[in-house]
Amino acid sequence: MSRSLPAAVLLLTVLSIGCETDAPSDAKSTFEKPTPSWQSLVDQVKSGDSTEIEMREPVTSEQLGQLVELPTLQRLKLEQPSLDEESIKAIASLTQLEMLILRETKLEETATKALLFLQNLRVLNIPQAEIDDRQLAEFSALPKLELLRVGSSKLTDAAMKSLPNFPSLRFVHLIQAPITDEGLMALHSFQQLESLYLDGAQVSDEGLLQLMEHCPELHIHINQRHLDFDPSGHDHQHPSDGN
Ligand SMILES: [Zn+2]
Repeated sequence: MSRSLPAAVLLLTVLSIGCETDAPSDAKSTFEKPTPSWQSLVDQVKSGDSTEIEMREPVTSEQLGQLVELPTLQRLKLEQPSLDEESIKAIASLTQLEMLILRETKLEETATKALLFLQNLRVLNIPQAEIDDRQLAEFSALPKLELLRVGSSKLTDAAMKSLPNFPSLRFVHLIQAPITDEGLMALHSFQQLESLYLDGAQVSDEGLLQLMEHCPELHIHINQRHLDFDPSGHDHQHPSDGN
């Protein structure tokens, strides 16, 4: 098997993470594969047969400590209600990591600072992170970050103002962040942004219309739907979420 992930595969995953579908959630479980053990996933990476780990249940911090032995790991997906300091350090040692998905995890400031060591990260998906504006702004130090999906009720319009400082960012999805029209205005000149998904925001139709005027190519979802007044809303496909 290939050691490096073809760019097309990664991009497809990027798009599928970014785009929610209306598929019923029970369709997912029907096709769910049996969960491999943590140790078998670790062993596959160690032997060079795999560059990814996906766990659908929490593992111990001792198990997470094994990550320091996996410098070739490129994709890591965990469901981890808590991460202690040692676990964060182990994740931060994965300098080849391109995709990090941390479900169920709140991220304190020491954790988000540690993630800045992941200089090859292209996808960061932290739907329960509950980070603040300053923590989010610091992710602009990740030079290759293309997709940022964050859940946090602590984010404000100040977070939106920091997004144009992200050098490679193209896909943004904010969940339960009380963003207003003022935050949208910060994106008017951020032309490299390709998609903006907001769930639970406090934006108005007028604010969205203004954004569409300034960024006619921007793909917008509000609460997982297109806007009724989006002329390009029906022109594209939504790949499966994969989660
Ligand atoms: Zn769409």
